[in-house]
Amino acid sequence: MPTTKLTNFDNCVSFFIENGAYQGRLIRLHEVINTILGKHCYPLPIAAAVAECSVLGTLLSSQLKYDGLFTLQIQTNGVINLIVVDVTSEGKIRSCARYDENRLKHSQELRKTSGQIEATPHLLGGGHLAFTVDQGKDTELYQGIVDLQGKNLTECALRYFKQSEQIDTTLKLFLQPPQGESKSWFAAGILLQKMPNISTSLSEKEQSEIWNEAKIFIESLSENEVFDSSLSSETLLHRLFHGNNLQISKTKNYTFGCRCSREKLLSTLQTFSQEEINSIIENNQITADCNFCNEHYIFSAGELQKQ
Ligand SMILES: [Zn+2]
Repeated sequence: MPTTKLTNFDNCVSFFIENGAYQGRLIRLHEVINTILGKHCYPLPIAAAVAECSVLGTLLSSQLKYDGLFTLQIQTNGVINLIVVDVTSEGKIRSCARYDENRLKHSQELRKTSGQIEATPHLLGGGHLAFTVDQGKDTELYQGIVDLQGKNLTECALRYFKQSEQIDTTLKLFLQPPQGESKSWFAAGILLQKMPNISTSLSEKEQSEIWNEAKIFIESLSENEVFDSSLSSETLLHRLFHGNNLQISKTKNYTFGCRCSREKLLSTLQTFSQEEINSIIENNQITADCNFCNEHYIFSAGELQKQ
């Protein structure tokens, strides 16, 4: 069922406060998340983890200047062993997860949480969160990586900023599964960072007071507000930071988009050995589904002959 497009969603609003000393992003996703999850039949906790990672990936990608592909990847030895989120510089998002159905059932029975949403790391186990920025041929691959630690995904991401980037960062993620009248998912995130090397006339003490106050403002943003489709992101930000010389700098829109194609898949299959081909060929055909968009591809044995 297609989701109704909501005006105030599927975008990222960039802003500054305190004369550019702090930079922030507010992302609210609706149609994108529902399109992604509509491509799969994930059980509730898996869908929640994918939605949460998608908004985190989008938030992290929005912090970077790049022309190409941003990928957030979580790999673990847990129930969900892989989550991948791709965000292109044009604002196309796709994501998927790989998980063990039996282990999921078992873990929910043990924890008595069947049908409930838990903080994502419970299903992830030990592993890491990594992201890469691929800007095409002849460019260096940018990569960040952090162990999965902390009681939720927000804490994992904050550890990355603290350890690797050493930038003061605060972050809050929001998630709302389908409930009541609303048959759709909502996901959102807000992030604020101290800009490095900004000259200011403020004392250390004043700066730290402003930062602590800004963190409290971000914490005060409620789920009801962030998922209220009648409120624009500008209104929400104004409510939080009207006393902090708020400047809205730009808005970027997001849509679902998969980059799979027959040609790409065919060239991958053509790298397979004859033995591998023989193991997947059936009735002289090879079928393959895209993990991201579920597109079903069929190739004849003849097509796989290398040119
Ligand atoms: Zn696809």
